[in-house]
Amino acid sequence: MKCRVCGKPANINLRSYKTALCEEDFIAFLEKRASTTIGKYHLIDETDKPIVAVSGGKDSLSLWYMMNKLGYVSDGIYIDLGIEGYSGRSLEKIRQMADKLQRKVYIFNVHKALRKGIDSIAKVIRRPACSACGTIKRYIMNRICIDKGYTVLATGHNLDDEASALFGNVLYWKKEYLWKKNVVLEGRGEHLVKKIKPFFLCSEREIAAYAIMKGIDYIYEECPFSSGAKTLTYKGILNHIEESSPGTKIMFVKGYLKMVKEKGDEKEDEKEDNREGRYCLQCGYPTFSDKCSFCWLLDKFGAEYDVEFDQYG
Ligand code: SF4
Ligand code: ZN
Repeated sequence: MKCRVCGKPANINLRSYKTALCEEDFIAFLEKRASTTIGKYHLIDETDKPIVAVSGGKDSLSLWYMMNKLGYVSDGIYIDLGIEGYSGRSLEKIRQMADKLQRKVYIFNVHKALRKGIDSIAKVIRRPACSACGTIKRYIMNRICIDKGYTVLATGHNLDDEASALFGNVLYWKKEYLWKKNVVLEGRGEHLVKKIKPFFLCSEREIAAYAIMKGIDYIYEECPFSSGAKTLTYKGILNHIEESSPGTKIMFVKGYLKMVKEKGDEKEDEKEDNREGRYCLQCGYPTFSDKCSFCWLLDKFGAEYDVEFDQYG
């Protein structure tokens, strides 16, 4: 197999694009794909100050590295969930990358703030760990952006994440979520930061290959709470389909984006509109009711209302 661009021996076969590339041309290909996504969907403009949500995994660390390489100078945010062993190892990888990029990373420590790790928090409030985690992450990441003046929050969601989420929403016809997946989620006023996904059209396999080729040291193990998640089953099914029909995943996601665009600026559902006009009486950030879920958590655990985070770099 030869590289389609230069004719040297290929390092990766991209069946969905019916092509094979050498390491150098593959790196250029993936960087171009991400920068085209950023340009085409107007994810970042010249006046923006972006920041990347990092977990220590391949997607977020590759995104952080690539954005800085492409000239989108960005710092990082890490939420330390207090998962024994796993959280510490993740933070180690993040610190290494912060050193390499010479950028800072904000660290919010769940255990320090709520005096419990995510596992115990979930047990006390009788909700799945991922649900408690989602509440904390959404709130803290938005809060750090607003407090520190970042205008765009980039996350490492990739094509496989988006295809599996879309698949799940279609399977159960979750109309309330179906049209909300997008490359960009616009911010609202001074309280909700814009969120972007530059890897929306880059597959998990491509990002893993990029991370290895660029020598990015990431944590291989998944968060222990991810096992048994439905999205993993959906990813498996989609991979199976992709195996026999290469290109299906990208067509599925691109077709969806086209339909979202055709739907245009149709009003989002009422729940979202409600949140637009409502602010938490305690912290002043967007909420669906008088008190936001994060302040409710703080109350539940008798924690301080001051949101503190550490800084590295
Ligand atoms: Fe949070 Fe669940 Fe993801 Fe772990 S798997 S990081 S608990 S959402
Ligand atoms: Zn609040």
